[in-house]
Amino acid sequence: MTGFTPTTVLASLLGATLLGPGATTSLAQNAPPDQPAVTVKGVTYTPRSILARNMGTPEDQTTQFPPHKIIGNIYYVGTKTLSSFLIVTPQGNILIDSTYERNVKTIEKSVTDLGFKFSEVKILLGNHAHGDHQEGDALVKQMTGAQVMAMAEDVPALQAIKPGGKEHPIDRILHDKETVTIGGTTLTAHLTPGHTHGCTTWTTTAQESGKIYNVVFSCSLRSPATLTPAVVEEMTRSFKLVRTLPCDVQVGDHPAQYNMHEKFARLQSGGTNPFIDPANCNLETDIQEAMFKAILAQPRSSTAQ
Ligand SMILES: [Zn+2]
Repeated sequence: MTGFTPTTVLASLLGATLLGPGATTSLAQNAPPDQPAVTVKGVTYTPRSILARNMGTPEDQTTQFPPHKIIGNIYYVGTKTLSSFLIVTPQGNILIDSTYERNVKTIEKSVTDLGFKFSEVKILLGNHAHGDHQEGDALVKQMTGAQVMAMAEDVPALQAIKPGGKEHPIDRILHDKETVTIGGTTLTAHLTPGHTHGCTTWTTTAQESGKIYNVVFSCSLRSPATLTPAVVEEMTRSFKLVRTLPCDVQVGDHPAQYNMHEKFARLQSGGTNPFIDPANCNLETDIQEAMFKAILAQPRSSTAQ
């Protein structure tokens, strides 16, 4: 954990995704503030602590986390702090989130470590159009030939993600409630905007021990620092919508959004699958909605940039 401070995390995040190399001098203006603070289930959060929790250190963002089965045909193949999910079917596999381009080789290794072939990724989906989740899409397509599908409202932001000048591939444009099917598995794309305009919550079902479970791949509900009336409307709609989704297993675009590290530790001791946790399906929603309301309640001058 050497060198870990919220500032180094932010320097990495902002430097890599928003400002570009050498733009760290304007960090102070772009770092999320350390207020307001909200407390949910005994834990206190600020916008800065949430971002630090999500991103970890620069090393966490690129270090392989042990790949593992979550439930049924769904596996985790991401790094310590950036999620990537593999859904395996007899007709080929789905990958959700390529993360940073520099992580694609690590994701390939995780897929291989689980005994699958990266070349069997036939469909690449995304959580939302930010570099830490979808920068590697072009490289994944180059390596696998996968069809890349994206929510219409995120297309402009995705097209602006061009690592090394590579065009962002998009083979199919999706709309709210459309489905993606391969090898007997169907995923539904729910438009849950706010964090980005096309933020996509994916739902599907998975089978384990003869039972069927509802699985929700949550999109980030982290409020932007500046809340325009349009974004307020988007986020309000999204908080309401995600609470209506049937859910037994919830995962998110950062492992911290579903306590992956703690659940993975419990997985090692056997017993019931710790990822089946319907009681906590909306814990992250509760945290983000509390923060959203606290930001909204601030005097306008402190939220506008
Ligand atoms: Zn994001």
